[in-house]
Amino acid sequence: MATIFTRIVNGEIPSYKVAESDKFYAFLDINPLAQGHTLVIPKQETDYIFDIEDKEYQELFLFAKRVAAAIKKAIPCKRVGVAVLGMEVPHAHIHLVPLQSEGDMDFRKAKLSLTPDTFKEIAEKISLSFE
Ligand code: 5GP
Repeated sequence: MATIFTRIVNGEIPSYKVAESDKFYAFLDINPLAQGHTLVIPKQETDYIFDIEDKEYQELFLFAKRVAAAIKKAIPCKRVGVAVLGMEVPHAHIHLVPLQSEGDMDFRKAKLSLTPDTFKEIAEKISLSFE
């Protein structure tokens, strides 16, 4: 059965898109640690990120680098943090989180609850900065 992220890529489940290429897709995490928290995924489904073959793995991280640059431009932050967990969704994904301090990257903390309009606004801002 397709993962929830494959269903997002296929447009069966809505998402707040930030960037897209033929192989990769970036969208806002629905339970964000900070405004601008983004997930970057390969369209091709692989559960464990370190099982992705080398070329696609490199391309995925280069794509994430471009997305991180867009986040840094669009969202006031000191840095963009990077994490790979995969404890919940079995479809490889990179978390990109705008950081003011290291505590912003604590995945155990309460997530933000944002309105659809705020999600839309943030996604649009980041996508406009994506090069
Ligand atoms: P992980 O697998 O890295 O432990 O966590 C999965 C992440 O995906 C979580 O941060 C969760 O909020 C996010 N997530 C799970 N389901 C959805 C969804 O349907 N849409 C979006 N945008 N994010 C999701």
